[in-house]
Amino acid sequence: MTEVLLGLGSNLGDRLATLQRAVDLLASHGVCAVASSRVWSTAALGGPSDQPEFLNAVIRVDPGELGADEVLSVIGAVEAELGRVRDERWGPRTVDIDILLWGDLVRDDARLTIPHPRLHERAFVVMPLLDLDPDPVLPDGRRLLELPVPRGEARPVGPPLAVP
Ligand code: ATP
Ligand code: CA
Ligand code: CA
Ligand code: CA
Repeated sequence: MTEVLLGLGSNLGDRLATLQRAVDLLASHGVCAVASSRVWSTAALGGPSDQPEFLNAVIRVDPGELGADEVLSVIGAVEAELGRVRDERWGPRTVDIDILLWGDLVRDDARLTIPHPRLHERAFVVMPLLDLDPDPVLPDGRRLLELPVPRGEARPVGPPLAVP
């Protein structure tokens, strides 16, 4: 099975409930999580200062027959169902779901950049990712563990999200 990893983040409202609902809603749209990282707490990076801390997690999903464009559409639907309002870039949001990795796929066009271009720079992605894969290798062969230490602080605050 192609390894497909999604990053989840929330820094508004009941953040933990939102992350879990995101997992459940993704499944209801055919994007079923098969594993979750622990839940991590991270200070917001970029965007307005003084925004609340994020909770973040990374999930491994089985996209079934869906391709990356279709999963991106599902992500948009789930973000909308959870009440995300598109506002200031990197501003507070109820939920943000990104495609981090899709097996060895490399893609960069107007709709999608995979791997996610900033994934290796962000502790809030790298730390949960390491829960699922202790030695991730990017499609270009670079090992995440050999790249510069990512920015930001992250600490684990809860067990993995429930997967169906
Ligand atoms: P960042 O990309 O730095 O994490 P963000 O998640 O806040 O920022 P959004 O406003 O959520 O950015 O997304 C803007 C657009 O990014 C989406 O509409 C989508 O088309 C595009 N996009 C490109 N690559 C990806 C990806 N790998 N996963 C999710 N969206 C992506
Ligand atoms: Ca993001
Ligand atoms: Ca996003
Ligand atoms: Ca690996």
